[in-house]
Amino acid sequence: MPTDPLPASTVRRAGGCLQPVLLRGRVDHIDGTSGELLHRYTTAHEPGGLLPIACKTRRASRCPPCADIYQADTYQLIRAGLSGGKGVPETVASHPCVFATLTAPSFGPVHAHREKDGRARRCRPRRRGQTCPHGNQLSCPDRHDRDDAGLGEPLCPDCYDYTGAVLFNACAPELWRRFTITLRRTLASRAGLTGKALAAQLRVSFAKVAEYQRRGVVHFHAIIRLDGPGGPATAPPGWATLDLLTAAIDQAARAVRLETPAAPGLAARTLRWGREHDIRPIAATGDLTESRVAAYVAKYATKAAECTGTLDRRITQADRLASLPVREHARRHIGACIRLSKLPGLEALRLAAWAHMLGFSGHFATKSRAYSTTLSALRADRSAHQRELAIAAGLLPDLGSDATIIRADWHFTGRGQPLPALPPLTGGA
Ligand SMILES: [Zn+2]
Ligand SMILES: [Zn+2]
Ligand SMILES: [Zn+2]
Repeated sequence: MPTDPLPASTVRRAGGCLQPVLLRGRVDHIDGTSGELLHRYTTAHEPGGLLPIACKTRRASRCPPCADIYQADTYQLIRAGLSGGKGVPETVASHPCVFATLTAPSFGPVHAHREKDGRARRCRPRRRGQTCPHGNQLSCPDRHDRDDAGLGEPLCPDCYDYTGAVLFNACAPELWRRFTITLRRTLASRAGLTGKALAAQLRVSFAKVAEYQRRGVVHFHAIIRLDGPGGPATAPPGWATLDLLTAAIDQAARAVRLETPAAPGLAARTLRWGREHDIRPIAATGDLTESRVAAYVAKYATKAAECTGTLDRRITQADRLASLPVREHARRHIGACIRLSKLPGLEALRLAAWAHMLGFSGHFATKSRAYSTTLSALRADRSAHQRELAIAAGLLPDLGSDATIIRADWHFTGRGQPLPALPPLTGGA
């Protein structure tokens, strides 16, 4: 029975990872017919008896090399749903498809970068110097730069509606879910069809990404596409036009509502999207091309709440709110999450667990099943490719028979030190 003289091809995928996962264990290749052990890989031959595996995080704040891979995969996945490839026919590019942004409503005036014709404009000019009940000015004559540290900060933190902001973040995934249901209903009613009849003719596919605005609330960017009933490989019916899709998204975004439960000292609230939503067609040429949209979504898929000045980890009982190393605006959001988490009726929002995310507990990048390919399929393709290279280079035996059973036994032992980026596999390496 041969054992691997060199690390398995998997170790090479950990190249560059800053926080690799250390595994101890073995992988056996067994002949499915005879039960004979054909090959065994064991970590016993690795340095320290441990195999480092890339953390595969999507978060650039935690591991930039792994986030780069996630970003590249997300780009491929998004691009395939816009112009074809990775198993999606190129005809998908002719389906009605838009890039829509659904924003949060206002929770109070904040400092903002404004621009017109390439020139910075005043933040909040007001002729009369009005003040709030706390004595703060309700105007700001400054022309803030794009990277001004104070952007997104409220003019008066005591007036700002932190309760509303964290409730919106916490409910944003449910608001999105309701939006997708309302959109299908709106399309059906505009086409004069029942929901069932619509599903027999049309499928709505989407891929969305969450972005934190500087003011600390999430908003969603979504690719929304109309397909035939069989998904991207089937053409949508002739009546399903770009204009219909655009009008239906606008109508659905305005109509969606969500009622938060009342609690002692907190009245029920009706949450909805902000008034400013943006719906633009994605085309092969012009401002909003397929590759530009794919790059935009992929970029946001590797970000989280860090740009709002919060923590990149959960807040525990041992943490003291006043001494957390966060921006004051984030601290107020976190404080609101902790305060609201104790109210009966709001338990389901799990606001204490998601306080570091300012209440948002949703996934950052999601897509409907029929959008295009999946990240797992892209990763499996890459693994298969690396495996072929390793076999060709004589690093791994060729055991690619369907009758081979692979039995793995892994144990997690901790986190390792950053790994040097390894050169690509070459023959005889
Ligand atoms: Zn990593
Ligand atoms: Zn300002
Ligand atoms: Zn005030």
